[in-house]
Amino acid sequence: MPRPTEATIHIDAMRQNIAVARARAGASKFWAVVKANGYGHGVERAMRGFVDADGLALNDLNAALRLRELGWNKPILLLQGVFESCDLEAAFASNLHLVVHSIEQIEMIEKTPGGPASLDVYLKVNTGMNRLGFLPDQAPGAFARLRAATSVRNIVVMTHFANSFALAPEAPAVSVTHQRSQLDALANAFGCQRSFADSATLLKNADSLGDWCRLGVMLYGMTMLPGRKASEFDLLPAMTLSSKIIGVQHLAVGDSVGYGSRFVASEPIRIGIVGCGYTDGYPRSADDGTPILVDGVKTRVVGRVSMDSITVDLSRIPDAGVGSNVTLWGRGLPIEEVAACAQTIGCELMCGLRPGVRVVETLPERTLSESLDFSN
Ligand SMILES: *Cc1c(COP(=O)(O)O)cnc(C)c1O
Repeated sequence: MPRPTEATIHIDAMRQNIAVARARAGASKFWAVVKANGYGHGVERAMRGFVDADGLALNDLNAALRLRELGWNKPILLLQGVFESCDLEAAFASNLHLVVHSIEQIEMIEKTPGGPASLDVYLKVNTGMNRLGFLPDQAPGAFARLRAATSVRNIVVMTHFANSFALAPEAPAVSVTHQRSQLDALANAFGCQRSFADSATLLKNADSLGDWCRLGVMLYGMTMLPGRKASEFDLLPAMTLSSKIIGVQHLAVGDSVGYGSRFVASEPIRIGIVGCGYTDGYPRSADDGTPILVDGVKTRVVGRVSMDSITVDLSRIPDAGVGSNVTLWGRGLPIEEVAACAQTIGCELMCGLRPGVRVVETLPERTLSESLDFSN
């Protein structure tokens, strides 16, 4: 018997979430962001879930080429562009859209022959995030060089928000409004399309969404908006991590459980041992009290998370025992609730699902070949 831990990837939920995005995006097109192996769901599964997106955006060139091999013939955007000129040749050959965030990348494009007017680029502007991109006063020079490069076809200007999830937009040091105004000024001056909206921007009913949104977390069934549940937006979790109870212990008053004896019983308590631990991607930082479902009933983690087991309170679930089903997160238990008790965010938990965990998929309504038939 394999270990009982299993991740279910809900392809049907991904498709539902795409429909929610489509309804909210209105006239704007959107990239489904599948970086980090589809936020941990598997890039190929994400492709099947997001078959109705306008394009797929990611960082890994090899994953992009794999999507092409699998038949994805809609646009693909490399969100950090290319790192060396051989990557650029591959990008030309596979018709990839590229983010351009540095002078080095512009030089590569100028030096590498491609087909005339065949390359679509996203010029990344640093409007306050201070990670990648040209400062607003450098952007006109970068735009002019790209415009003059023979291989470049279309140019979109983009920026990424530092505080899109903040519910009071003017509060943070770098506000969405400030970042937007800088991007808009450039796009207006260049007369080109613009891309700025992420999931939080879309879900907050922003006044406008630009030409191309770039949507990640919401498509996997999360919001990132403080206090707002995914279910309020009809978003469904795309991943459920589950396991089983593999042992039971009875603690007397004063007994402790697990490493460091973090949890000490103040009353007699029945403990279930779950066959899942940090080796599977469950966060070791989960505090006592982190929610967990046993046979569908919400209970709590007690004691430190171990490498391949977790200990949970069964005192109010008398029928639970060895073989009972456990949900770590997903359907019935929003991943944000678990993350909040482990000093992290749901994204980190999803992306941290370990490759060794067995994955099952819910059956999509359409087969892959039907999904990839874009002819009609
Ligand atoms: C990851 C990423 C996104 C998606 O953001 P979400 O908050 O997951 O919707 C958009 N743009 C860029 C540049 C990204 O790296």
